[in-house]
Amino acid sequence: MAVATIGIGANVGDAAASVERAIEALHDLGPIIARSSLYRSDPWGKRNQPDFTNAVARIETSLPPRALLVALQAIENRLGRVPGERWGPRAIDLDILLYDDLGFEDELLRIPHRFLFERAFVLVPLAEIDADFEIWRDALPPTELNTVERIVARSE
Ligand code: AMP
Repeated sequence: MAVATIGIGANVGDAAASVERAIEALHDLGPIIARSSLYRSDPWGKRNQPDFTNAVARIETSLPPRALLVALQAIENRLGRVPGERWGPRAIDLDILLYDDLGFEDELLRIPHRFLFERAFVLVPLAEIDADFEIWRDALPPTELNTVERIVARSE
């Protein structure tokens, strides 16, 4: 079994509900061993669109990386993602952030995810579930770090 870390984002409709549904759907791919809180983040790239809701989940899976990518895309389709413009609004986005300690790149897949070490909406939830990433989160410039805040509305 491998350990895969999945980044989840949504900014259409009830984005928090979509992120929770996506985490629920990840159960089909293997047991969830950790998940972050939900976070609100400023839209990245294209600014005139709704805020995003983000989270990170870590699963144990027997799927190899490419099959995992296909499975994540199937979940995106099931949860109502329609192809849209790059950086535009999205009902759900699932990315492979990490896969064991694999480093890999081809035209379809890059692991670790290319924005892993740059984006607060990835590093802040990731550092919540994996202390090894606190040093990366803390290295973000304050202007980037301030684009993300924890949604405390979740009952725990
Ligand atoms: P996005 O707009 O973020 O959903 O981009 C999806 C595309 O990014 C897919 O067609 C993938 O082939 C590609 N991609 C490259 N690396 C990754 C990764 N680590 N996780 C998910 N998608 C990836």
